[in-house]
Amino acid sequence: MATKLVQIEDDVEIKQRLEAERVRLRKIAGLDRPTHFHRPVERAFTAEERSKVTILFGGFTWKHEDLIRAVFQGCGYRCEKLPVPDVPAFQIGKEYGNNGQCNPTYFTVGNLVQYLQFLEKEGISRQDILNNYVFFTAGSCGPCRFGMYEAEYRFALKNAGFDGFRVLLFKDSDGIKAASGEPGLKFTIDFGFGMLNALLMGDVFNDLIYQIRPFETNKGETDRVFRETVDSLCDDLKNRDSFEIEQRAPDWAKPKFKSNKILRNTFNVFGKMHEHMWGKDILNALGSAREKMNAIEVDRTKVKPVAKITGEFWAQTTEGDGNFHMFEFLEREGAQVLVEPIATWVAYLLYQAKAHAKAKWPVNRPHRDPKWWELKKNLVNEMGLRKKMLGIGAGQVMWNYFYHRTARSLGGITHHLVNQKELAALAHPFYNQFARGGEGHLEVGKNVYYTVHHLCHMVLALKPFGCMPSSQSDGVQSAVVNKFKDMIFLPIETSGEGEVNAHSRVQMALGEAKVKAKTEFEQCLKMTGKSLDEIKEYIAEHPELKRPFYQVPHREGIAGTAAQFILHVSDRMDKSTKLWRRARVPGVAVPNAA
Ligand code: SF4
Repeated sequence: MATKLVQIEDDVEIKQRLEAERVRLRKIAGLDRPTHFHRPVERAFTAEERSKVTILFGGFTWKHEDLIRAVFQGCGYRCEKLPVPDVPAFQIGKEYGNNGQCNPTYFTVGNLVQYLQFLEKEGISRQDILNNYVFFTAGSCGPCRFGMYEAEYRFALKNAGFDGFRVLLFKDSDGIKAASGEPGLKFTIDFGFGMLNALLMGDVFNDLIYQIRPFETNKGETDRVFRETVDSLCDDLKNRDSFEIEQRAPDWAKPKFKSNKILRNTFNVFGKMHEHMWGKDILNALGSAREKMNAIEVDRTKVKPVAKITGEFWAQTTEGDGNFHMFEFLEREGAQVLVEPIATWVAYLLYQAKAHAKAKWPVNRPHRDPKWWELKKNLVNEMGLRKKMLGIGAGQVMWNYFYHRTARSLGGITHHLVNQKELAALAHPFYNQFARGGEGHLEVGKNVYYTVHHLCHMVLALKPFGCMPSSQSDGVQSAVVNKFKDMIFLPIETSGEGEVNAHSRVQMALGEAKVKAKTEFEQCLKMTGKSLDEIKEYIAEHPELKRPFYQVPHREGIAGTAAQFILHVSDRMDKSTKLWRRARVPGVAVPNAA
């Protein structure tokens, strides 16, 4: 049967028919009413609730978390850290969360739900959990799934029956401040500087523990000493007296500070800052921590391949199922792990802020296209950019200063923050530094940096399943590996399952790295012209060489700790021999050989 064709007369009729069809389809899809998304209005966390509401948080290493909790408690909050996320938490995340999320979302979201379920099993009613607990986390506007974390927490909590549980965002001041009255979580100077100290100390302890433990002479000593050290620093952070000018000022000045708010606040800001950073209490606490750690006995002649960890922020930080317990596994297999401080991420954000501000200035400047004779407009444009650069630049300088100062105070052997400009330059031929999200160009930059500077024997990238930026990095890493032929680079996808498979792949790469480390060590030993026994004998006679904070100067081109160490010891032995020979010449004074 022939189909009867409908004759369309003109364009107007096409448009009318299209519009009619659009209306019909929108009606079917329920889109005929305005459906704007509104962020759910959440009950505020108010100042009156501080004494009964517990702030929950998590997602870092135990060193960071213990110190952060101590700062919260020292500022008068009830605070508890969540357990390290495990596979059951991941499964809960999958059960209650959206499909197609990245692996850290499932782990962290599931971990919160799992903890609330645990509280319920302990006998706390659901209503009491909603009233007496809040979760504190970082937020973002993306562009990767990090931007969806807040929504994911709320969605999974709702699905698990904890609808109305409060999620406070670090980024979003509305989530922190109460709608009216005094906010429950208040960002004071004490809180800000306390957190800064906690974060930096956590980074330094984390770096130190992975530098010292592989070489400890007495098994278990490093873990025990670090536990005691962190505990005692936590006590110090918790119980420290806050600086108040009205109490510290001499009696004659107290009334002035009492009556003048501006004067009081100004002195309090500088006084608190000084107390947190340069005060007697913090310096004494760091000094005693340094002494305790330096008492651990180490043997740096053990040959170990250095495995640099890179990858996504959370996957390279967590110490549990989230990355297949990778650090523990690597150490068990005889490697030395080179971890990444959280401070690198902050330094990256500052660097990116500066680079973006500069790149976008032609469109953001106050006067778009001033002519060359419009001097005032050109000056305003120029000064605007300089002001912006100066502000971010000052932040960068301070951040670097505070990090390295903490590192020096805690023994001085912590790895320095890598220059962000160099990382961006090394990555740029492969990964554009303006491609944002996750670690951005950092994964590629670090891989190249640690290889060309011979700072490790292998690079292990921990990439969560479903991670958009890490997948992009992975795509270009094959070009990177092709260019740097002697690079040992292994990307491992952390998915919550397949631990055995991941460990076996790491074992294979580690086998090659071990050969590399051993060959390097043997070449260095040959260069010294001494036997290992002779070197060990000298070390036995000089106990300072068995201390973790003994400074071994870095030699370019050598990655292994043992190789660096024997070269240095050999230099010391040669120096001692020369001095001994000179001492036999009458009339020549002998300086201190050590
Ligand atoms: S960086 Fe990757 S794993 Fe991390 S939040 Fe973004 S998408 Fe998820």
